[in-house]
Amino acid sequence: MSGWVRIVGLGPGCDGMITPEAQAIMAQATDIVGYGPYVDRIPDSPGQRKHASDNRVERERADHALELARGGGQVAVVSSGDPGVFAMASAVFEAVEADPAALDLDIAVIPGITAMLAAAARVGAPLGHDFCALNLSDNLKPWSLVERRLRLAAEADLAMAFYNPRSRARPDGFARALAILSEVCADDRLVIFARAVTTPEEEIRVVPLSQARPEMADMRTMVLVGASTTRQVGRFVYTPRSVP
Ligand code: SAH
Repeated sequence: MSGWVRIVGLGPGCDGMITPEAQAIMAQATDIVGYGPYVDRIPDSPGQRKHASDNRVERERADHALELARGGGQVAVVSSGDPGVFAMASAVFEAVEADPAALDLDIAVIPGITAMLAAAARVGAPLGHDFCALNLSDNLKPWSLVERRLRLAAEADLAMAFYNPRSRARPDGFARALAILSEVCADDRLVIFARAVTTPEEEIRVVPLSQARPEMADMRTMVLVGASTTRQVGRFVYTPRSVP
């Protein structure tokens, strides 16, 4: 049997947002590799091995997936959302770069619905014009860079999507991020807190920047910040396609 690695996105939470392509790959795989809670989302199947690992060991997980594929395993490496967005696909390519013999393996990335898009869809079309996505975690980059990118994005009047906005280990960073936004943007700038989107715990809040509080976000929250043109129409939030 010839091995392969498919880096697969499971979407934001509900099964309906797993793509048919991702479903088919998980059904074929002999091995499922990923962070415990994501691996748990996949029903057990006879003859398929599951390898659940801890949160912060992405690189070890990637090495393990390449190793399994070398031994003939057909390996699905699973991420939430899209595997290319702050997730496992880059970790696998870091592993490949460190071990170029792995380039002989059959490796492919299978896209998924990322949290930012699921969150945006819930309120309307806040990302309907130019936008950027930022990871507010400083686990893998200096906090000064997070602040710099955030400030420049706000000055460029981009709508913004924040992944990993706030964790127990980093309770203060998001407060600082809101303070920077308040320096650059008007008080009525729309901020969307979309928590656990597409799961039974889903909670969506839309507030003006002046009412945004750090406690409104946690690690299951996607924060979307509108551009200056982003507005409300009835119960929807959208960004028009043009800038006057
Ligand atoms: N690869 C994932 C993102 C991983 S980073 C993707 O493409 O969606 C993890 C961050 O994603 C979380 O801290 C949170 O900000 C966001 N996130 C993931 N799932 C979410 C959901 N169902 N609802 C809201 N935010 C979510």
